[in-house]
Amino acid sequence: MKFLATIFLLCAASFGIAQTHDGPCGNGGGEWQEILTERLLQNKQALADNPVQFRSTVYIPVRFHMVANTNGQGRVTHGRVLEQLCRLNQDFADLDMQFYINGLNDNINNNAIYSTQYTAGTIMNLLRDPAALNIWIVDVATPSAGGSGQGTILGYYSPQRDWVVMRRDQTGASRVTLPHEVGHFFSLPHTHNGWDSTPWSSDIGNPSPTTSPGGVPTERQDGANCNTSGDYICDTPPDYNGFGFSGCNYNIAQDPTGAFINPDEQLFMSYFLNCVRDEYYFSPTQQDLMWVDYNRPARAYLRTNFVPNLTEITETPLLTFPIENEFAPGYNSINFQWTAVAGADHYLLEIDRAATFTINPSIFIVSGANSFTVTNLEPNRTYYWRIRPYNAYRTCALFTPVATFRTNNVTVNTTDITDLNEWTISPNPVFAQSVMQINLEAARGFEGVFTLYNIAGQVAQQYGMRRINPGNTTFDFDVEALQPGIYILALDHEEGREVRRVVVTR
Ligand SMILES: [Zn+2]
Repeated sequence: MKFLATIFLLCAASFGIAQTHDGPCGNGGGEWQEILTERLLQNKQALADNPVQFRSTVYIPVRFHMVANTNGQGRVTHGRVLEQLCRLNQDFADLDMQFYINGLNDNINNNAIYSTQYTAGTIMNLLRDPAALNIWIVDVATPSAGGSGQGTILGYYSPQRDWVVMRRDQTGASRVTLPHEVGHFFSLPHTHNGWDSTPWSSDIGNPSPTTSPGGVPTERQDGANCNTSGDYICDTPPDYNGFGFSGCNYNIAQDPTGAFINPDEQLFMSYFLNCVRDEYYFSPTQQDLMWVDYNRPARAYLRTNFVPNLTEITETPLLTFPIENEFAPGYNSINFQWTAVAGADHYLLEIDRAATFTINPSIFIVSGANSFTVTNLEPNRTYYWRIRPYNAYRTCALFTPVATFRTNNVTVNTTDITDLNEWTISPNPVFAQSVMQINLEAARGFEGVFTLYNIAGQVAQQYGMRRINPGNTTFDFDVEALQPGIYILALDHEEGREVRRVVVTR
């Protein structure tokens, strides 16, 4: 509530009296309104000529452009994008329209796209995905040079460019900005069409004039002129609330006949932003019109007939390594491991020095595997990690619980010893006071030095230089002197170093 009040104050301060172009969503008035009204009226006619009678679920490709500033800062998080897509699919479930990720552009670092898109059309066109609904997640939504700024426009649809732009702080399950903008994308006007920039106020007074400040005939509460006024859609009641009304029960304005209007505050296409989130919806006619728009020739690029992986992700992966505050061997090359779950084509892997994942998280998308080697961590640190399973369409599964581990200062060479085909330790775990057997298979003979480190990186046992022969070689290494615990056996060779993890048990 307080947040909204701040926004509207900023609106009032920055819009001034001459500004009639922008609302909180950046769509309203001007050329935008002309283009969209024309499309809407065409769609209305098409709907009248050929009513939507049957529809089966369609899957619409979406490209998320996750924009940072030129220094790479300020990008929306991957987790937030997955959460947003999950919510969008819930919002559109009634329409039988569903959305899937056709790509995440998570490497766009560009100040212009980040905060002044009206200067960035050329570069944005180059980055545009021609086979998807393009959604740009930016810091400041700026459809034009004037009247725009942080705190005012939450998002907008550009009919000229045919893409959606939204502020990153509007991304996520609790916000209504994206479904609203996608409504515009599919030709819907505001329910308060004509009042977008200048909402009804006591200055306008009751009863309201027959033409709204935006030049659109004023819709009457009794519906008598609903086809030719307001949003031109008859199953959405009149609405004169451009912005500035903070409640969810609007009953202050009279139509031109003197009847108090009773808008439907839960329609996505209104500017009532703080009603109960789960109850926002599109009216039946709005839904039909969006379908007509989806079927326009100009929207052929969205109608791919592609069905993404529909398998729901119901299990939570179990993090298996490194966990429980253990030391990971070789801080510069750590192989993270977890259990695979059905339906997950990808895993979002986050690693950070804070359990909140807010310091400077390393983020990786791991596809088609349930382990991943990370090489950019620092020695002698405590780290936290978690993963989130998803596929292009199913993005609702949450992050796993957080696991923690430590790094020591043991480095491992990340390039394999080329002469060495394979080496294993058995048994592993090995009992204390017994012997572990090292089995190696080499393409050519070479000499290597074996050293056993404890998990803190201190030398626990020197096994010295050994000759590895072509073919198979076996060594028995004594573990008699060792305490139970986790160790790292390193093999040093002129090409580098390889390590294996050894567990000594009681
Ligand atoms: Zn809007």
